[in-house]
Parts: sequence; C-alpha cells; structure tokens
Amino acid sequence: MTFIISHSIAGGRGVIKPCRVLYNVIMRYYSTRNRNEKCDFAAAAVRGLAPDGGLFVPEEIPPLSPSALSSLGGMDFHDIAYETIRPFVSPCISGAALSDIVHGAFTFDAPLAGAGERFILELFHGPTAAFKDFGARFMARSFAYIHRGEDRPLKILVATSGDTGGAVANGFYQVQGIDVIVLYPKGRVTPLQERQIAGLGGNIAAIAVEGSFDDCQRLVKTALSDADLNTRLALSSANSINIARLIPQAVYYVAAAGALQNRGAKRPFVFCVPSGNLGNLTAGMYASKMGVTIDRFVAASNSNKTFPEYLEHGTYTPRVSTATISNAMDVGAPSNFERLSAHWDLDGLRRMILGVSIDDDDTKAAIAEVHDRFGYILDPHGAVGWQAVTRLHDSGALQSGSCTVLATAHPAKFARIVEPLTGPVKPPPCLEEAMKMMVKSTTIPPEFDALKSLL
Ligand SMILES: *Cc1c(COP(=O)(O)O)cnc(C)c1O
Repeated sequence: MTFIISHSIAGGRGVIKPCRVLYNVIMRYYSTRNRNEKCDFAAAAVRGLAPDGGLFVPEEIPPLSPSALSSLGGMDFHDIAYETIRPFVSPCISGAALSDIVHGAFTFDAPLAGAGERFILELFHGPTAAFKDFGARFMARSFAYIHRGEDRPLKILVATSGDTGGAVANGFYQVQGIDVIVLYPKGRVTPLQERQIAGLGGNIAAIAVEGSFDDCQRLVKTALSDADLNTRLALSSANSINIARLIPQAVYYVAAAGALQNRGAKRPFVFCVPSGNLGNLTAGMYASKMGVTIDRFVAASNSNKTFPEYLEHGTYTPRVSTATISNAMDVGAPSNFERLSAHWDLDGLRRMILGVSIDDDDTKAAIAEVHDRFGYILDPHGAVGWQAVTRLHDSGALQSGSCTVLATAHPAKFARIVEPLTGPVKPPPCLEEAMKMMVKSTTIPPEFDALKSLL
C-alpha cells in the first residue's frame, strides 16, 4: 500500500519538513472545517490552526493493543505514554525519539488519591502545578524534534491571560532550537503568574503589553500572518488548540483507568473533568475511544455553562464569559467544542457525557466540605468537579460505580480563595521557587510595529 503525505497545509511558513521515515501506518489529521484538508502530525502541530481556521483532528482514533490494555495496571507512566501517543504521531516521530520525548516531558506523574468513596486524579505535580504541564512539555519536545536540523531557531509566539503562559514558558525552557516569546497583558496577571512567565529568561522572552489579553492575541495573530516576518523568521504558535497539547493529555486517563482496574474498583468508571475550553474532556474521550475502561464522563463547568446547556437543550450558544473563582474555566465559547463535534454528534456526546454547572458558592462549599470530611484540599477547579459529582449523586443521575474527579491545579495556586475555607495551604517547592524569581520583561504598547521591531 502506498501512502501520500499531503503538504497542502504544510506550505507557507517553511518550517515544516516532510516526515523522513515511512512506516506502514500514517496518522493523518484533517481540519474540522474541511475533511479534505489533510496533513500529518508534524504539519498539524507546527501549524496549530488549519489555514481555514479549523482545528486539526485525527482521522481515526486508534485502539490500544489488547496486550497493552490488559497490562496497563503493571506498566509505568512512561510506557503508558509511549503506547498511547505512538499511533498519533506515526510516522513523524520515531519510536526511539518518542521514548526520549515522553521521558523528558513527564518528569512527574499523575497519582490517584482517595477521598471517601471517590478517587482524585492529581494532575498538578508538574513544574507549574497545573495539568497544562502535560500538554505544554510534550508539545515543546515534539516541536524541537520536528524542527531538528534547521539552522534558524523556531520562534514560538504565545498570547496568555495568565496560566497558559507559565506552562508554555516552563515547557519550552531550555529546549534546544526554540525561542519563545510570551505576550501577556501588563498588570493583569497575578504576581505568581508573571514570575512563571517572565522569571525564566534564557530562551523565553516575556513581553508585557500595555493592553488586554485580546490585544496580545491580536498581536500574535498579526505576526503569524505577516508575510515579511515569515520570510525572515521561522514562526509558530503554541496555543491551547494545538493537537500536540491535546494528545498527551489522553495518557493520564489511560493510566488512571489501569490503576482503577488494578485496585479492583467497581464499574462503571466515571471521570469528572473540570472544563473550560474542553481540551481535557476531548482528550478523555479519545482515551475512552482507544478502548480503556471509562464508562462515563462528567463535564463540570462553573457558571460559564455553554456546554452543559448544549447537552441539555441541543443548541450551542457561545457567549461572552463571566468571571468566577475557577478562572481557568471562564470560557463562554469553548474552542474544543468544534473538535468534539467533528467526532461525535449530540446523541453520541449525550451517551458518554453528563454536563453540570456549579456556581462559586457551591464551589466554596465543596472546598470546605472535602477538607472537613477527608482532610483533603481541593483547588477551586477540582472543587467544581467534586460538587458536580455530588449534584449527580443527589439527583440519582449517577448511582453505583467509581467516580474519579480530576484535580487540575494545586490549591496553593489559589491560596486567596482556598485558605479562608481550609486554613493554610503549603505550597509545593516549584511554586516557592517561582515566587523568588525576578521578573525580566519588555513593555510595549499594543501596536504591531512595536512587536515587529522586537522580533
Ligand atoms: C485550563 C484549565 C482548566 C480547563 O481545561 P480545558 O481543557 O480548557 O477544559 C481547568 N482547570 C485548570 C486549573 C486549568 O488551568
């Protein structure tokens, strides 16, 4: 059989090279807005967004091998990562390279804690204490691999409202052949976030924009489509819709399903995902499609309930977001909705996902309750998930089985909200280190010329 890699999407910026090795399996990605626009993993990753504005999705979600599925409980996290990711990146990343990438990226794992009858999947053991480390660190290393052998460094532009910038900066820090430029709204991120973005230095440059997050995003978009800049520099982006950030997030679902089986947990296995842009939920859906024992998801939103309302009423109404205490989930128009819809119709989503919206008061009540009953401290995002499960139990929508709530951030990141409810929260060493860093950033007005002359 012959496979042809389409380079129709890969043209343009000149930073994408064709895959060098051909196996007999090629994973292709297509744009959610045009099924005929296809490319391989490398092109989809470096492009980020398809030229038609769509998101890249895999043409197929490959099942894990029966032998991997039956031995998950005994495999270590790196081996599970390798097995899970391998088919998605074939043939662009060789087996040996993938092994190096997962060992370099996942220097921490995702332990399963218990609180009463429920499990808590702790996703905050990475260097910025939030689950975005899994995606950002994998993406950084796969970009470096894809760009290997080029003489010009790959310049990654990122706009952030706070949290993502830290994970991306940290993920790319000291990664060879890549320079990162993070744009953030000056004075509108927390002191910790600013240090995580602008404290590292080295190959990470921080630009404080005198304006809003929207200004930052506009500047990045303008730069990425500026013909002059793109002939002189190898430019790319690293925003949250990048497929290279999504796929590694399937790994901890696969590992957790294995761990639950190993512990003899009772089926059905329900995973509750605190959701904003729905990237984490989409990765979970991929994991379940790969054949692991996940029976149901709960999509837990804060007051920004576009997705739960879609599941309930069948109409998708994106809107402007409102501010809550679980602010990484303040999303009114979830970007990965388009990706989920490319794979599953409304009925398909309803069969797998229960949607729940939790307000700030109930979020705080959950933080206090879990601390009082179990001595466990949730962050506001995890607490939205916890309360969503409680709500479903109370209404009878969820009965028997094992519920796993994803804890997406360490509570110390949100000490101002959590500590009045629980008493002092000890920060993990990575956050203490971050607070000691000096901010080194360049301030610019929100104008493209100012950014261009810096680049
Ligand atoms: C980004 C984020 C979320 C939301 O994840 P999505 O993939 O956007 O749904 C939840 N919790 C925390 C702490 C986050 O940083």
